[in-house]
Amino acid sequence: MEKILFKYIDFPEQYRIDTYIKNGGYRGLPKALEELSPVQIIETVKKSGLRGRGGAGFPTGLKWGFVPKDSQKPKFLLCNADEGEPGTFKDRSLIENNPHQLIEGMIIASYAIGAHKAFIYIRGEFAFGAKRLSEAIGECYKNGYLGKNILGSGFDLDLDVYRGAGAYVCGEETSLMESIEGERANPRLKPPFPASVGLYKNPTVINNVETLSNISHIVLNGGEWFANIGMPKSTGTKIFSLSGHVNKPGNYELPMGITVRELIFEHGGGIKDDRKLKAVIPGGVSTPILTPASLDVKMDFESLYEAGSLLGSGATIVMDETSCIVKAAYRISKFFEHESCGKCVPCREGTRWIRLILERIENGKGREEDIELLRDICTNIIAKTVCPLGDAAAVPIMSSIEKFRDEYEYHIKNKKCMVDLGTRFV
Ligand code: SF4
Repeated sequence: MEKILFKYIDFPEQYRIDTYIKNGGYRGLPKALEELSPVQIIETVKKSGLRGRGGAGFPTGLKWGFVPKDSQKPKFLLCNADEGEPGTFKDRSLIENNPHQLIEGMIIASYAIGAHKAFIYIRGEFAFGAKRLSEAIGECYKNGYLGKNILGSGFDLDLDVYRGAGAYVCGEETSLMESIEGERANPRLKPPFPASVGLYKNPTVINNVETLSNISHIVLNGGEWFANIGMPKSTGTKIFSLSGHVNKPGNYELPMGITVRELIFEHGGGIKDDRKLKAVIPGGVSTPILTPASLDVKMDFESLYEAGSLLGSGATIVMDETSCIVKAAYRISKFFEHESCGKCVPCREGTRWIRLILERIENGKGREEDIELLRDICTNIIAKTVCPLGDAAAVPIMSSIEKFRDEYEYHIKNKKCMVDLGTRFV
């Protein structure tokens, strides 16, 4: 299948506006501005079936449609480029190698929702990406793609890059808005949702980099064209960030619905050193772990949910037979404890206790009751926190116990790891 977003990802100097235009760029935008009304664009995106690529998978056209059309308040479009889920590295590649594809999508999206101000919120560590975006935005102002009266259409848009300070929670949409407003990035309670009360209490749409990068292609080729790629309810392609014990790690743009097996063995070249597969995390470390029994599960929103996991951001982490699941769970717990913003008790206290218990199991000091204690703490976090970070911290631990309980029991009973690779104690 021909790639959409990654078609020119390795093309020399694709990040320059001239090269982008030479390769077919900035053709969706004039079509949107000259031939389509904002409502028609929203209908086209709805017809395409495009769903958010940041993790939640919410239908993009529906989200745009929630912005009140009769509101006199200013409206905002925010691009969430705070890619921080361990294992995810797709948005960074889209930004660094093809920034105009994202910007073109943002201009069309702003026109569709009636926004005249847009921001790309990029995590602080992505200094090179921020520089490349700023340069691309400068080229757009010079060439009439941003600013007043874009391409003579009468539509105005200003676009800015906003650099975060590097907190995982800023990828949560309400934290992201708090951060832009100059506040500590604590998530807000929802409702109200950003479409009605968002940035500076104004209607706001927040979309992920990969989501917005699809927009110009959808406008140019039609919603039906996109809807015919992939699966009926998970349309289009998805960029899978494949990492871990595979021969060919990297970003792969593939149609939604390829199987876990195809991704790992056909595209990723199989498991390193011909070892056996032990586990797969299919959507970033916040998603439940799968075993080799799920190799034929399709990688789309519905199929992975039915298999007991989630598509998330599509970051697929492969673990071979030498991996220790308890150690992996401990590392994940350290990440979430560190990233908890501390606003709500179940997450603030729970992530710390998960880490402490996993640490003592790893150190050979686990207690018989620790497995049930971990499950109890996780149960008291899931669906009881202000933002999804709580679930993200608890769900993978629960699933690792469910799928690999024998490893936990072995650790506690024998005070060492069942994987024979010498000491694994920290
Ligand atoms: Fe903060 Fe965690 Fe509560 Fe989210 S779940 S608001 S990160 S403490």
